[in-house]
Amino acid sequence: MAAARIIGAGLAGLSAAVTLAQRGVAVRMDEAAPRAGGRCRSYYDPTLDQVIDNGNHFVFSGNQAVARYLKTVGAQDCLEGPDKADFVFHDLGDDSRWTMRLGDGRIPWWLLDPKRRAAGTTLIEHLPLAALALRGRGRGRATLGSVIRNRGHFWQRVVDPMMLAVLNCPPEQGSAWLAARFLRESFLRGGRACRTLAPVPTLAAAFVDPALAWLGARDIHPRFSSRLRGLVFSGDRVTGLDFGQAAEPVDGPVILSVPPWVAADLVPGLNVPDRFCSILNAHFAVAPPANAPMITALIGGCAQWVVCHPARISTTISGADAIIDGDRGALAQRIWADVCQTLGLSGGVPRWQIVKERRATFAATPEQDRKRPPAATRWRNLFLAGDWTQTQLPATIEGALRSGEVAARLALRA
Ligand SMILES: Cc1cc2nc3c(=O)[nH]c(=O)nc-3n(C[C@H](O)[C@H](O)[C@H](O)COP(=O)(O)OP(=O)(O)OC[C@H]3O[C@@H](n4cnc5c(N)ncnc54)[C@H](O)[C@@H]3O)c2cc1C
Repeated sequence: MAAARIIGAGLAGLSAAVTLAQRGVAVRMDEAAPRAGGRCRSYYDPTLDQVIDNGNHFVFSGNQAVARYLKTVGAQDCLEGPDKADFVFHDLGDDSRWTMRLGDGRIPWWLLDPKRRAAGTTLIEHLPLAALALRGRGRGRATLGSVIRNRGHFWQRVVDPMMLAVLNCPPEQGSAWLAARFLRESFLRGGRACRTLAPVPTLAAAFVDPALAWLGARDIHPRFSSRLRGLVFSGDRVTGLDFGQAAEPVDGPVILSVPPWVAADLVPGLNVPDRFCSILNAHFAVAPPANAPMITALIGGCAQWVVCHPARISTTISGADAIIDGDRGALAQRIWADVCQTLGLSGGVPRWQIVKERRATFAATPEQDRKRPPAATRWRNLFLAGDWTQTQLPATIEGALRSGEVAARLALRA
């Protein structure tokens, strides 16, 4: 087989490269940025004097593509998290705290115990969500808001925090089908599949550097700062890649693992998601108190998740479009106040950094989900990968890695 060309070295591209290289296929990669990782980046931040991630990223212990990928590249020990599927919450409004404790098994006995559910919620209120997960749902037009009508504590303390993080769009507008897909792959498989795992010490150390080393050992070295500007088509094949000079002829498969707006510019007539939601992360250079939980979900604050790293406290705000253009200093003050309240800290804002990802993910609404294309295209040797393709999951690391595997398998068959 002629060398496979992979355009884009985000997680989807890296996953495609690893899958092909495992089967002995020669791979050449081009990446527009000076580094790999795409939306999963780690870098030295001079203000904090630390290496940080562009944003807190979590996966679930049940994410199978994540497990396969990390095992292949030898990074299976680079995820850490609690032994149990325990989710710590703090409602800043009435200062109540609780821990949702799922237990290990598939049968959700925890729902019967008020001390293991979200405070102030009843078993009955969970039934529509359970029904959504159990029944699944066709890829229809239903939004989560139309399926779950309760807007009381159950919505505020269960549906909203969980689904905002998963769908990265206002949950009432989110796709019920994607929510159901997420629930079926996580909560429905029991607590053992729902332990929250974080990359340690950084995102790149888990998901990017080991993959680059593994590929390097097989003589695959991405060409960085190499932006694809055009594809040359001939009949039902891609026959050339244009990087701004003379087009490079192509014989083998081409996997396009670039963001959707780039793919739409390169591939004629391609329908892609075109509405995106932002994520804002604030990082504070201060060690968290001893015994602080690794992750706390906040209700009723500006920050939504407080994440404790050894020498840093980071916060995540998903679906952040309403505040993304706000004054950075004012945002840091506001978010720090939430952190202080939840972790019992006081004092002025420590050294801080705010990282804004404006197009963090596509908005996981039914309308946008229907615009996601499959991996195969009408050109026999052109395949698509990325969290925005038809992965049957919201835009996640698991979806991105899976999309790379799918594109690689199609490329092998082609
Ligand atoms: C702040 C933030 C927090 C997140 N949190 C989580 C989380 O907790 N859990 C989770 O599962 N997911 C999370 N995600 C989503 C996750 O990061 C993405 O799903 C995943 O990184 C997408 O990978 P990708 O390869 O599909 O796309 P990308 O990472 O966007 O990769 C595309 C690559 O293509 C390159 N490229 C673009 N144009 C060209 C061109 N013309 N030529 C060559 N290369 C090009 C880009 O530079 C990039 O490297 C988060 C995302 C963000 C931004």
